Amino acid sequence: MVRQGFKTVREGLEASFPLRLYHKAKRHFWDPQGIDFSVDKESFAAMGGAQRRAFLHLASLFLAGEEAVTLDLLPLVQVIAREGRLEEEMFLTTFLLDEAKHVEFFHVLTHEVAQGGDLEGFHGESYRRIFYEELHRAMNRLLQDPSPEAQVEAAVTYNVIVEGVLAETGYHAYRRAAEVVGERGLGLPGTLEGVGYVQRDESRHIAYGLYLLSRHLAQDPSLWGVLERRMDQLLPLALGVVQEIFAAYPEGFPLELEVGEFVGYAVDQFQKRYRRLQLARGQGLQEIERIALEAEG
Ligand code: FE
Ligand code: FE
Repeated sequence: MVRQGFKTVREGLEASFPLRLYHKAKRHFWDPQGIDFSVDKESFAAMGGAQRRAFLHLASLFLAGEEAVTLDLLPLVQVIAREGRLEEEMFLTTFLLDEAKHVEFFHVLTHEVAQGGDLEGFHGESYRRIFYEELHRAMNRLLQDPSPEAQVEAAVTYNVIVEGVLAETGYHAYRRAAEVVGERGLGLPGTLEGVGYVQRDESRHIAYGLYLLSRHLAQDPSLWGVLERRMDQLLPLALGVVQEIFAAYPEGFPLELEVGEFVGYAVDQFQKRYRRLQLARGQGLQEIERIALEAEG
């Protein structure tokens, strides 16, 4: 195989939406090692066993989730590189580093700050279906099958459901739980600082995923059926993840959170992404850029 030439030499980089996300990622760089967890450590030590366990439960789902998305992203990066989409690949290099930092952050939080015990026991059936099976399968399918259908299935699973619905709902739970213990004088400033950074990173990842899906829809509107089927297939599993967290505490979740609020939050996230994708349906590539830029602000 011979390379046909180089874009940077021929025409230069394109000031596209993915390149903007790439610049944004560099500006918002943070280091998990720079977070001060000293107050959080004292708070976790002073917390009752049930509350600490509930925090670890949430953190354990994040920790494994971040490991999964770190390990499973590479097939997509390879597909994008093979298609010669340089600006998108440049963004994806920051994306992969972000996920590695998220693993690091939740690793420190669970193993060092909150002193976790059995973390695997927190993974329920729906969680396992998504993170052990569906995500892994959809991403690794790209190694053999880089077709637009396979890319749509991968992006719906990874960016829309895992990042856009589950992770977003998880941050909301973290904040609310931190509020509850905070009212009793147990502050978690390091945790909240890190969760804030992680969420900001994730918003770029989701924005890229929506852009990628919109780009495919612009090139082939018939892919909407693939997208919709995958969304419908994964929504019950995503809601199952939320429900099984609460089901693990039949006498009530120790951090005073209510299942209804979080199922509702997850459904809202799902609908928000769905509407964004509907907006992109039937639009040309230029319009896709405009919609993505407008949503980014
Ligand atoms: Fe992440
Ligand atoms: Fe992410």
